[in-house]
Amino acid sequence: MKELEEKIVREAQVLPGHVLKVGSFLNQQVDTVFLKKMAQETARLFAGLGVTKVLTVEASGISFATAVAMEMNVPMVFAKKHPSANMSGAQLCSPVYSYTHKTTYNIVVSRDYIKPCDKVLITDDFLANGNALKGLMEIVDQAGATVVGCCAEIEKGFQGGGDELRAKGVKVESLAIVESMTDDGKVTFRS
Ligand code: 5GP
Repeated sequence: MKELEEKIVREAQVLPGHVLKVGSFLNQQVDTVFLKKMAQETARLFAGLGVTKVLTVEASGISFATAVAMEMNVPMVFAKKHPSANMSGAQLCSPVYSYTHKTTYNIVVSRDYIKPCDKVLITDDFLANGNALKGLMEIVDQAGATVVGCCAEIEKGFQGGGDELRAKGVKVESLAIVESMTDDGKVTFRS
């Protein structure tokens, strides 16, 4: 999405460790009008594939996944990162290494919310090395359900996670793919 690339150039900051900060419209403050446009574009990219659920991981994936699920008229499910007293019954669980927190945590979804008949679209805010998406794919696999594809708002193409999944035949669509970013804030995109 050209408009997303322009927003990144105007508003994003490059932090040390190849972290892109987009708190002004995506990660802390959410530009809801623009979020709707991104969700509409995502629904268009995955139209006609029979998606029955949108799955993401808390916390920063939730706003995008909710907007996409609303466009597709299906439920949104998010994996929890922390054990919670209000989770009971059988659970689907996968370890994920966090790029931003440099630690491994278990993501957990109740078995009640993903069934073998589900066709799941996995979404997240960022796609870097692909660990979060791989963990979510593992959860879908454990449920016996089908992954229809994956969509990130922003992919950092130079970190390779998206291309690794595409090479395995997964339909991966990202609304903007950053090809390079420098410490002085210059960002280029894959064309
Ligand atoms: P991956 O698992 O693909 O390596 O990283 C994706 C996850 O790490 C996303 O859930 C996202 O929250 C976080 N992440 C990775 N890179 C960035 C980044 O440059 N900026 C922000 N804000 N989050 C990132």
